[in-house]
Amino acid sequence: MEQDREILDVDVLFVGGGAACLSGAIHLADISAKCGLGDISIAVLEKGSYAGAHIISGAVMDPSVLAELIPDFEEKGAPIEGVVKKEQVLFLTRSGKIRFPIVPPPMDNHGSLVVSISKVTEWLAQIAEEKGVDIFTGFAATDILYHQGRVMGVTTGDKGIGADGRPKASFEPGIDLRAKVTVFGEGARGSLTKKLIQELHLDEGRNPQNYVVGIKEVWETANVMIQPGEVVHTMGFPHKNRTYGGGFIYGMDDSRISIGLLTGLDYGDPWLDPHREFQKFKTHPFVASLLKDGKILQYGANTAPVGGYFAIPQLYFDGGVLVGDCAGLFISQKLKGIHVAMKSGMLAAETICEALLKGDFCADRLKPYQETLYASEAGRALYKSRNFHQLFRKGLYGALLTAGIQYLLGGRIIKPRLLTQPDHSHMRPVAAGNGASASTDEHAGSLRYDGVTTFDKETDVYYSGTSHEESQPPHLKIVDLSVCYDQCLEKFQAPCQRFCPANVYEIRTDAETGKPAMRLNFSNCLHCKTCDVKDPYQNIVWVPPEGGDGPKYTIL
Ligand code: SF4
Repeated sequence: MEQDREILDVDVLFVGGGAACLSGAIHLADISAKCGLGDISIAVLEKGSYAGAHIISGAVMDPSVLAELIPDFEEKGAPIEGVVKKEQVLFLTRSGKIRFPIVPPPMDNHGSLVVSISKVTEWLAQIAEEKGVDIFTGFAATDILYHQGRVMGVTTGDKGIGADGRPKASFEPGIDLRAKVTVFGEGARGSLTKKLIQELHLDEGRNPQNYVVGIKEVWETANVMIQPGEVVHTMGFPHKNRTYGGGFIYGMDDSRISIGLLTGLDYGDPWLDPHREFQKFKTHPFVASLLKDGKILQYGANTAPVGGYFAIPQLYFDGGVLVGDCAGLFISQKLKGIHVAMKSGMLAAETICEALLKGDFCADRLKPYQETLYASEAGRALYKSRNFHQLFRKGLYGALLTAGIQYLLGGRIIKPRLLTQPDHSHMRPVAAGNGASASTDEHAGSLRYDGVTTFDKETDVYYSGTSHEESQPPHLKIVDLSVCYDQCLEKFQAPCQRFCPANVYEIRTDAETGKPAMRLNFSNCLHCKTCDVKDPYQNIVWVPPEGGDGPKYTIL
């Protein structure tokens, strides 16, 4: 709908209300007065109904960047669950565990903070608002505004569009938010960032980005076996040697633990279901003992970029920059992205400050952001682990050995850059064997969801608080349904039904025609973007639903 769109002009617009953008907005508010800019208008646009609603991570946070941004963060009430003093790495077999004699140096978290990133985000948003930043929650950015080839802001989606695509009585047109500089920090696989990268060829000469999907629950435990701040990382069960990923258990305050499983989306088996693997993880005797007599409090899922240094796109362009997870700024070897995201926001703010002083917002003027980021400690850590994810192509055991050697050599390996393929291209046809011929039931083994420790997707979705206005066009766009029915069903047995952690995709047989019919339970969607990444035909495109819809995370 084009009519009556309001136009709002700001100096700097941050698209996405996560740690990267909020850190950038806070830092820009802090330094703009000092560098002689005076009052400038800074806005943050967030699709969740409140700051932190859609933000999910492990999370263990390196506090160095937080201390730089807000030196008195403890006095200011930063929500910290615990300081890491005790940690262990376990290799899990089906029923046993082997403890690594030492925590491998890249995984050492001593002194880091266990946090709920949704709570930290809410707190950062309050601080940003105190500094005069305007935070618009419940508004989804749906398109990029260009002027003469330069990015000049975004449009927000119309509200009140019916399922038939026509305006309802409640219709409210979106707004055009125009800015001198637009900072994209939408999180992993951001929908506008994806478009921007394609349109401006920002990934030319880079590896394609690879992702993990993290499935996570927070539990209140009856037997406090994991203390606040205690960290357990696991490898092995339930993943097979060739599946990238692992588990985590972090101790929070109030007898709560954060428990999750990461699954690399470069897996090949079309029957693999990351949510089901997570449920299996909880049945391991060690994990089950932690959960015994406890209760689930919240559930969520999200993707994280693990492609590393060589998959980072160009971070600057005429009129804007990319920060945080949407730019692939995540150190997969350390399973850490929060402090890198925050640092990227802060360094972007410093470059933007210079650009505002000069009144010049072209790509060359914004390029120093990328240079300073790569020269920072976070940038050096990204470079040092530049081939880490690629090492796992041949399985866990070889990769662990090679990763150790690579670490000792400062990231060097036989070849300077190992190439990768996009995650969706790894799926093997069911007829091809290689573990791809088993049915879902065979994969589930003896796993039965008991509703006590293990849950089906529908039950877990309830604990995410997600909801969407039902009377709107589905925000999962299937480009060509005939590809689903005529190709994907036979070749891959419709893996969307398994890789989605929220049971959004269901293929049923139409009672009248006897033909397959796709049912989209889009109200369940957790905005994790797994479908957009993993669909083997790239036939699913995730676009933002009405602003304010989606998960309602508070402690993830
Ligand atoms: Fe994630 Fe896509 Fe499922 Fe939504 S529909 S929960 S984005 S996989």
